[in-house]
Amino acid sequence: MLKTVPSFGRIGEENAFAVLARATELAQSGRDVINLGIGQPDFRTPDHIVAAAEKALRDGHHGYTPANGILPLREAVCSDLARRLGVEVDPGSVLIVPGGKVTMFMAILMFGEPGADILYPDPGFPIYRSMIEFTGARPVPVPIREVNDFAFSAEETLSLITPQTRLLILNSPANPTGGVTPREEIDKLVAGLANHPDVAVMSDEIYGQMTYDGLEHRSLLAYPEIRDRLILLDGWSKTYAMTGWRMGYSVWPKPLYDLARKLAVNSYSCVNAAAQYAGIAALEGPQDAVREMVEEFDRRRAVVVEGLNGLPGISCRTPKGAFYAFPNVTETGWPAKKLASTLLEDAGVAVIGGPDFGILGEGYIRLSYANSTENIRRAIDRMGEFLSAKA
Ligand code: PLP
Repeated sequence: MLKTVPSFGRIGEENAFAVLARATELAQSGRDVINLGIGQPDFRTPDHIVAAAEKALRDGHHGYTPANGILPLREAVCSDLARRLGVEVDPGSVLIVPGGKVTMFMAILMFGEPGADILYPDPGFPIYRSMIEFTGARPVPVPIREVNDFAFSAEETLSLITPQTRLLILNSPANPTGGVTPREEIDKLVAGLANHPDVAVMSDEIYGQMTYDGLEHRSLLAYPEIRDRLILLDGWSKTYAMTGWRMGYSVWPKPLYDLARKLAVNSYSCVNAAAQYAGIAALEGPQDAVREMVEEFDRRRAVVVEGLNGLPGISCRTPKGAFYAFPNVTETGWPAKKLASTLLEDAGVAVIGGPDFGILGEGYIRLSYANSTENIRRAIDRMGEFLSAKA
């Protein structure tokens, strides 16, 4: 018998991919399935970005690039961070990675080991916990509560830090809740972290450009006092509708940068060369498509929230960021995962059960409104018929 190492017995999954596979299977068998399960923009990558990749291929950019990414791209990242956040970042601390996920993989590998604690949001992106468990570290959930509008509570987060804590994972705007942590709360959190100088922070800001109602996204990069232990996770996937290009970046503190670069050398060598040129075009080209996409998500957000709040047993707070709604379904009487799977099988609506995002996800489901308004309306109608029939 082949004997793999025990840590592989602890590695988890992202159930959204399993739901996508089942939804596709049902659709291929002739069923009309509306997919509100998938966490990716339903827009095409803007044409000028695609054109830049085509040009790069024609210009002969077919070989390896430096493992940390081509310099003009890392410089473009720095200019973008200066423009958007008013912060100065050295291109020597920017690492280009094949998707934002790779940053969390690297950061958790660097700090996770048996005996170490890693704090992560619950409900939160499932890969955080999966990777923490893979390393043998203890996953310590930071509760993200509905009463708190799905924001991090600085006080509660700080109270969970122990001498074993090595890494704190933050995510705002958040998947799966759409919660955005307000600036005052982040100020408090950073102030409290001064008492814990050995705790590194990974801030997942992949939805940083998707906030609504004029709400500010407060980046952790804006706090010089923690720059020497901050890992910023961002990328092109959501902002520029580029999930399939596998393009992300991270900003690392100096002592960690070379470790991350070596992980790149030891695994994927470098990110696809043509995609890197596309990444420059995305950052340096017109940003209208980003604005238009966010405005469209905003319109759909209103439709999804109003629709959900009209359904029996469902109540939904207005999400402040990303493109997810996370309604409370407790009053329907259905366990959340069962509700999600039955909605897919019986009503042809794909959503994700809250427990796929953590222990505190029980009682919720996640709907992605990265789908047309018409489909969102149809999905809500179907959910209404389903819930009324089962009541
Ligand atoms: N972080 C969060 C919170 C996400 O929701 C996702 C994708 O769904 C990622 C990171 C990963 O992004 P990428 O596709 O760039 O790896």
